[in-house]
Formats: sequence, structure tokens, C-alpha cells
Amino acid sequence: MFDEFDRQVLSKDEVVFRNGDTGDCAYLIESGRIEILVDTAAGELRLGLIEKGELFGEVALIDQHPRTATARAMERTVLIPIQRRIVENLLGKSDPILRHLLLVVLERFRSKQGSAPEPALPISHEDFSRLQQRNAVKGEATDNISLTHDITRALARNEFELYYQPICNLDDDKVAGFEALIRWHHPVHGVIPPMDFLWLAEQTGLIQELGLWTLERACRDWPQLKKQTAVAAPFVSVNLSASQLIGVSLVEDISDIMLRHAMPPAELKLELTETVVVERPELAMTILSRLVKLGSTLALDDYGTGYSSLEHLQRYPIATLKIDRGFIAPILDSVQSFEIVSSSIRLAHSLGMKVVAEGIETETVRNALLQLGCEYGQGWLFGKPGALKEAVL
Ligand code: C2E
Ligand code: CA
Ligand code: CA
Repeated sequence: MFDEFDRQVLSKDEVVFRNGDTGDCAYLIESGRIEILVDTAAGELRLGLIEKGELFGEVALIDQHPRTATARAMERTVLIPIQRRIVENLLGKSDPILRHLLLVVLERFRSKQGSAPEPALPISHEDFSRLQQRNAVKGEATDNISLTHDITRALARNEFELYYQPICNLDDDKVAGFEALIRWHHPVHGVIPPMDFLWLAEQTGLIQELGLWTLERACRDWPQLKKQTAVAAPFVSVNLSASQLIGVSLVEDISDIMLRHAMPPAELKLELTETVVVERPELAMTILSRLVKLGSTLALDDYGTGYSSLEHLQRYPIATLKIDRGFIAPILDSVQSFEIVSSSIRLAHSLGMKVVAEGIETETVRNALLQLGCEYGQGWLFGKPGALKEAVL
């Protein structure tokens, strides 16, 4: 299933590291058991036993001091080594607050390790629930480390796929374009939806690579996909995350990808949310203007879920407004939603933007939007996201 190259397989009694070795790596136990031993006057004493899903040797991630214990496999054990240089590399790309937080956690762990070991037994009820809590937190952290590891490998193994969902003219149902939506075919967990892994890709900086993969794949698929459209100016929409936008060479990278695939720039639409505009207004203006100069068009995604008004966003070169499905679905039941949607459409038109209503599931909702002058619709009514071979009939 996984490449042995990334894993370390140990047989029974094999030593992972010895007391006094220099540490440059932490380990996650994928299967098997590890015993941690300390040297005492009376010989080696077992300090603890750790099993599948647990992390050990974390201190090596903050310094390269000698190990203070020995770790040995108790049976055939498979480990995922987490190299210090990889963590440093990822941390370098991550948010400074996260970086600081991780260092604090690791420092605390180190000072705890330095103190006398807790008595093995008996433990009080409070001790037990405290340990349980600690293990729960630890479980989540180790899951995430494992998932990060898997994302890197998944890119190399081609486990990601783009699904395409049609975006249609509201008046005649003709397909005007498609939105590309990423899926991960995980070898163990099956299909993982984007919301379950993109946040981690963002936090670890892997979103840069993943984002370029998405753009590359969408441009590669476009000649086939385009045949399914029926309008004069068709497009494929690709989502860009805020952290991608502040990456160093996004504009050059997109330009290279378009050239490589002979992608007509006007047919590549880039979707972004207001986050980047709110967090880095000036940088966003520079990058977005450069993207538009390349010939691409921009769509503002999930409109209505943030705090910015359209008046505030009008100075950015946005061609399309996508109204979030949270407002579209209840449009016929909630006066407030109806008002928000109708005034957004009016305002968008007055600013020269086209409007896409997201999450249209019924004919009645479509008809109401048509009455309001909305140009495009996306949602189950027109089609669910599907693999390229499903989208290409
Ligand atoms: P989004 O950009 O708002 O994409 C639309 C989401 O709404 C998709 O979820 C789509 O499957 C879902 N949807 C569309 N029509 C309907 C409908 O009629 N009813 C309902 N209930 N849902 C509908 P999905 O594919 O799970 O994507 C979730 C989010 O993940 C996307 O929201 C987008 O923010 C993000 N995402 C997906 N692919 C990418 C990607 O390649 N890069 C980045 N940066 N983000 C992505
Ligand atoms: Ca989107
Ligand atoms: Ca959206």
C-alpha cells in the first residue's frame, strides 16, 4: 500500500535510538509497540510502553541534544520518521503564531520529560482522566501528522482527482462552464472531501503544491471538458486559497501552466474568498491585478458569508460574484435571504459583475433567481460534481 522507503520497519528487539545518540527525528508508530528504557545503576529500567498511533522522540524536533533514553521494538514495528529538517521546512512556511505555539508545546513536553517519571501504578481517578484527555489530544495531533505525511505522498502517487460541476445559464440551462473541485482517493480512508484535508494543507504550506497541481490538472482537462459547454465564452473555475495567493510566485506559476497547456487565459476563472482581501488588502490588489493582466477573470466565492460589503470590494478587479448557497437555499422561505440575494444581484450588476447562484437544488429556486436577473446557476439541479469521464458524456 505505502512505499517502504518512507517507513522504517524494525524487527523484535531492534533499537530505534540509544541513550546518548543525537536526535534529529521524531517517530510515529504505525503498527507494533515500542518500549522506552532508561539507564539506572541497577541496569535498564522500562519507563514506558507506547503503541500504534503514538508519537515519541519529539524533543529532537526542537534541539539536537543527545537522547536521554533508549527506544526498542517489542515486536515487528513500523515507524514513520518525522525528520527535523522537514518540520523546520514546513514551520518556515506556516503562520508565525502556529510556529510559536508548536515550540511552546514541545518545550513543555521537554521540561516534563526532564522531571521524575510518574509512578506507574496505582493511579488515581483524576490521574486517569487527565491521562485520557492527554491521549485524546495526542491522538488528534498524531492523526494530523500522519495525514500531512500522506498528503505529500498522495501528490507523488496521483491520489488526487478533480471533479467538475457544471455552471449553467439560468435561462436556457446551457452549460457555460465548470467548477473544479478536488477529491482525495485515500488508500485507507476512501474518498476524502476537500474540507477534511485542505485546512491541514493550508497550515503546513502544502497548499502551494496542491494548488498548482489543481491548476495544472484543470488546464490539462480543459480541451475535453470544453466540448461539453455550449456558449460563446466558456470557462473552467479553479479555487485559490488565500495562502496560495500570498505565495511568492503564483502569477509566474499560473502563467507557466497556461502556456504549457495552451490554455486561453480568458477561459480560466479563479475563485477566491474575501479572506485574502481582508487580511492583506494591498498585496491582494497587486496580485489580483497581475492575474487579470494575464487575461484571467476573477470570481468572488461564498459571497455573503464574510463581513465585507460589495462596496468595499468594488475596487478589486472582480468579474463574477458567487452568492453562497446558505442564502440561495432558503430564498423562498426567508424574507431576509430573499432581500440579501436580490440586493446583491442588483449591486453586482451595477458594478458590472455577472452573478452565479450556488447550491440551486429545485426548479422553484431557479425560477425565483431568474426573475431577479441572476445569470448563472450551480447546484444539484444542474448536476453534481463528477469525475472528468462522467462530466464528458
Ligand atoms: P465551494 O468553492 O463553495 O464549492 C462548492 C461546494 O458546494 C462543493 O463542495 C459542492 O460539491 C457543493 N455543492 C454544489 N452544489 C450544491 C448543492 O446544490 N447542494 C449542496 N448541498 N452542495 C452543493 P465540495 O466539493 O465539498 O467543496 C467544498 C469546498 O472546498 C469548496 O467550496 C472550496 O471552498 C473548497 N475546495 C474544493 N476544491 C478546492 C481546490 O481545488 N482548491 C481550494 N483551495 N479549495 C477547494
Ligand atoms: Ca468555489
Ligand atoms: Ca462557494
